[in-house]
Amino acid sequence: MDKKIYIHTNDTDVSKKTKELLAKKLDKSGYLVVSEVEDDTELIVCIGGDGSFLEAIHKFDFPHIPFIGINTGHLGFFQEILPEQLDEFIFNYGQGRYSLQPLSTVKAVVIAGDAKTELHALNEIVIKSENSHSIHLNISIGGSFIERFSGDGILIASPAGSTGYNYSLGGSIVDPRLKLLQVTPIAPMNTTAYRSFTSSILLPPDMTIGISPEESRGGIVIAADSLEYKFDRISGVNVSLASTYVNLLRFESYDFWNKVKTKFL
Ligand code: NAP
Ligand code: MN
Repeated sequence: MDKKIYIHTNDTDVSKKTKELLAKKLDKSGYLVVSEVEDDTELIVCIGGDGSFLEAIHKFDFPHIPFIGINTGHLGFFQEILPEQLDEFIFNYGQGRYSLQPLSTVKAVVIAGDAKTELHALNEIVIKSENSHSIHLNISIGGSFIERFSGDGILIASPAGSTGYNYSLGGSIVDPRLKLLQVTPIAPMNTTAYRSFTSSILLPPDMTIGISPEESRGGIVIAADSLEYKFDRISGVNVSLASTYVNLLRFESYDFWNKVKTKFL
């Protein structure tokens, strides 16, 4: 039986052309390019930038099936190969010359009224005000109250998400081989009226961060990889590492710190 591969793409011309070409090449090499992800699909190829990769992960609800990204986007930090490297990719894949990089994911359990909603993210969970007013969040770590945060909001990043929004906020870059949660403040206020931590804090993988928002002049928005969900009357949010991993195909040349160097410096 042919091995099944699904190709996800964004709508740019170069992505669509790359998809067409890749599908032809895969077909010639004996793979079956399927039009839907099925249980026995062995690989999801994602053509685009990091945004389309994140979109595919959410669309397929964090599947166990490995992903490989082809960068036709802007940054393409998650993306492993370039459109010029299709033959090389098919050859190395066929030869089994790759490893799987498991990426930890984060989840937020939101209690609002009688409803409990679970949100899942690869990069980060962001809790912020719906409008431009500052918000106040009571934050506990492992069940103990730690601080009353005042500012724009807080971001909780996975190791893989550390190079995204977290990094723009002054958070640390984390090697994805480490398992931890990074809590990064967004514009924390530090005055005699309000006191908040001004740097990121790093927590062990089994810790839960509890956030209970104080009454604010608007609603609270929670974003999972920039997908926004609006809630009224939130009584609490618990953020922790999820048990699901996203598996990325990596070829022999892959090196995290080299990637950071070439994409950031
Ligand atoms: P976007 O606005 O296009 O993303 C902003 C930039 O972040 C893009 O260049 C994107 O790469 C890059 N990116 C995404 N995940 C990354 C990661 N783990 N490491 C390094 N760079 C990463 O929106 P999007 O494409 O839908 O991506 C959503 C993500 O954007 C969020 O999860 C958040 O991390 C990030 N974001 C960043 C800021 C900020 O830096 N101020 C604000 C909001 C959101 P591509 O160009 O390849 O898409
Ligand atoms: Mn993008």
